[in-house]
Amino acid sequence: TVSIALFTQDLRLHDNPVLHAAHTSAHQVVPLFVSDPAVESAGFATPNRQAFLSDCLADLDASLRAIGSRLTVRRGDAAEQTARLATETGASTVHVASGVTGFAHRREARLRKAFGDRLHVHDASVTVVPPGRITPVGRDHYAVFTPYHRAWQEAPRRTVLAAPGALRTPGGIRSDTLLVSGTASPGLPPGGESAGRARWRAWDVDAYADVHDDLAADDTSRLSPYLHFGCLSPTELVAHALRHDGEGARAFVRQLVWRDFHHQVLAARPDAARRDYRDHDDRRHHDEEEVEAWRQGRTGYPIVDAGMRQLAHEGWMHNRARLITASFLAKSLYQDWRIGAAHFLSLLVDGDVANNQLNWQWVAGTGTDTRPNRVLNPLRQADRYDPDGAYVRRWIPELAHLPGPAVHRPGLFAEGYPAPIIDPDTLTDRFRHGRP
Ligand code: FAD
Repeated sequence: TVSIALFTQDLRLHDNPVLHAAHTSAHQVVPLFVSDPAVESAGFATPNRQAFLSDCLADLDASLRAIGSRLTVRRGDAAEQTARLATETGASTVHVASGVTGFAHRREARLRKAFGDRLHVHDASVTVVPPGRITPVGRDHYAVFTPYHRAWQEAPRRTVLAAPGALRTPGGIRSDTLLVSGTASPGLPPGGESAGRARWRAWDVDAYADVHDDLAADDTSRLSPYLHFGCLSPTELVAHALRHDGEGARAFVRQLVWRDFHHQVLAARPDAARRDYRDHDDRRHHDEEEVEAWRQGRTGYPIVDAGMRQLAHEGWMHNRARLITASFLAKSLYQDWRIGAAHFLSLLVDGDVANNQLNWQWVAGTGTDTRPNRVLNPLRQADRYDPDGAYVRRWIPELAHLPGPAVHRPGLFAEGYPAPIIDPDTLTDRFRHGRP
């Protein structure tokens, strides 16, 4: 028998329920990745993520070849291409992971139509606890993190699966190449399971509880792109961290629970990718010049601009900087969070519909924050999380000559650095009162 393992957001050999099930249930496995033009036309195939994805596929192919198999890449509609490959290879079953986006739901429905009960969907691949597996009484998802976190800790977790030692794949299958266009950010990390596992091994979780909010220390795991593309399994990371124990490991697992949390919200409310999760009193502003200054990292607020420039350079931004820059746009400037979320998605290598859109909504006060009216003051955030100003100096060369925390004050008279686009005394006014 032949089975197709359709890879989606699970581009790995280790702890992969899809590959494991295909491998243990059929004599031969066809590992398949379909590059779907619908993802491209939706603006999701950005240069940063395509470059990273291309590394992921090359690495996956190399790892599969090392165990006697290889990756087939096809371009087109996922269900159509899978059906065509099933005809070419005589595959009788298809294994795939369930996803949480509207796109993933549609793909699954089309695969179901093509394959009926020959399609096997695995739900504990992208997240640790599958969306919908734990629910509060009378609701289909948790809208508040703390009770979700509690329930998550009690939820059963599947065991970590070993990578297959050998895989038999029929020969003579045609494979396309992934189209990569545009220019990626210069500081992009390398993609793929091998790079992800190397990064994971090199990073020390012990200090995490103390340093994860320290912008200059830059000592978070940086595993988010590997988690987004499934080069690493969150289940394996959690199992490993909990064996390790300690405050750092517990704090790290808590962040992975946030990831599961947002995924279960989006699975239940796919519309939250585009619409306010909660009804919102909408007096939002729109000022393209302000938005452009924010995108360019030229707001005159050094801590905000440092974050935005890190994003452009690395295709990644520290979580604390994401909070500060998003709050500045969505609350201090009181612009629509969707504009900011779209800009983040155009650059983030870990750009993820669940994590990005729902974190943006959380910051904007339209999502699941239980204190939706708080406004982060960028100046106080800077003093607290970049007390020496080193993060700002790293990303803003115009200010690099300024010593210590003085670098955080807006209205600094540095050659080529702009004046603040909004008066520091009015940072909360628009959001609180709906006026400039
Ligand atoms: P670590 O601090 O090492 O955390 C470990 C892992 O936990 C991360 O890799 C990530 O998978 C998960 N995680 C951590 N914080 C969060 C969180 N708040 N929500 C969900 N998962 C979390 N993360 C994305 O993966 N993709 C996005 O598109 C994304 N957009 C964001 C937009 C905004 C406005 C904000 C405030 C946060 C966003 N995040 C997003 C969450 C978070 O900022 C990143 O996951 C984190 O900065 C990645 O760095 P790290 O891997 O070093 O994280």
